[in-house]
Amino acid sequence: MAEKRDYYEVLGVEKTATDQELKRAYRQLAKKYHPDVNPGNKEAEEKFKEASEAYAVLSDKEKRAKYDQFGHAAFDQTGGPSYNYSDFSDIFGDLFGGMGGFGGFSDFFTGGRRRDPNAPTQGQDVQTRLNISFKEAAFGCKKHVDLWVYDNCPTCGGSGAKPGTKPETCSVCRGSGRQRVEQQTMFGTMINERVCSNCGGTGKFIKDKCTGCSGTGRIKVRKTYEVSIPAGIDEGQSVRMSGKGEPGSNGGPNGDLYITVMVQPDSVFSREGYDIYCSVPVSFAQAALGDELTITTLDGQVKYNLDAGTQPGTRFRLRGKGIPYLRNPSQRGDLYVTVKVDVPKKMNEEQKQKLREFAYSMGENPSGSGPAKSSFFKKMKDAFD
Ligand SMILES: [Zn+2]
Ligand SMILES: [Zn+2]
Repeated sequence: MAEKRDYYEVLGVEKTATDQELKRAYRQLAKKYHPDVNPGNKEAEEKFKEASEAYAVLSDKEKRAKYDQFGHAAFDQTGGPSYNYSDFSDIFGDLFGGMGGFGGFSDFFTGGRRRDPNAPTQGQDVQTRLNISFKEAAFGCKKHVDLWVYDNCPTCGGSGAKPGTKPETCSVCRGSGRQRVEQQTMFGTMINERVCSNCGGTGKFIKDKCTGCSGTGRIKVRKTYEVSIPAGIDEGQSVRMSGKGEPGSNGGPNGDLYITVMVQPDSVFSREGYDIYCSVPVSFAQAALGDELTITTLDGQVKYNLDAGTQPGTRFRLRGKGIPYLRNPSQRGDLYVTVKVDVPKKMNEEQKQKLREFAYSMGENPSGSGPAKSSFFKKMKDAFD
């Protein structure tokens, strides 16, 4: 066995190095020599292990003190410490937390923390979309949703095994779903874990597969649910139907079904939160003289007294005529109505003449076209001459 190098030398730091300096040095070496970066490179692997060992000792206050006093003799390999990779996972989580590109890394180091494939597990949640109208969103509705969802295979009851047979515990991993590979190395026994190649991590092995589901235990089925959409729901919000997702495994509960609503735009109203907006067309005369208007709301028509002299673009509010609050439907938003003044597109000669007279009385001199203008102003001119 080759002479062990000094730990400080391995990391390339001074004996007085701070924790930060140690960490920085090790991070650099680990990035350079990590097996994921150097597949099949034995030398890099050795360097990586050497650096890992050095860092494991020097980053631990107690171990570092022992090492400083006794050197490698403090960790005599005969009967010395056995390093399990999972011991390193803390170091790596700390060092490489949030770093991409080390996918195989965590698999390499956290084997011991894998969940038990035989533990009860909740089924997957399922998402679907539902189109509803503006008014259905405002006041709530009952709807049917149809969807394809995985369910337990009715032939085998979800086991995946041919009726009359049962899945067996995987003989390779003894049901753990993980394969442990032990390696004797220069710094003790390394335990590497990976997904069991025999059962794919399920911990079970099916000799005679169910023909109904090809051994998966699941088939896609068409399901129809009636869903209550609450008043006040808005675009993109979801309703949860508990337990209507995919079935759980090993006796775990079903997942949930999330129904996300897509609200069709309305031709009259737009919505912001619980308030809604629309516009009402009025004539110039109505805006100028005032009038009783009929306004269409979500709840039907209501009367509104338009003040004389209302300007175009004026917005008025009808309290409580908006959308009911999602969790408190007795409370509602407001309806904002914007006044749009319509300009007549077609007028007959008499109307034009009257409008010119009106304009003149307001001190204006509109330059409208047509023969009527000249005769009108001629008349006016005559009158004042
Ligand atoms: Zn089946
Ligand atoms: Zn297995």
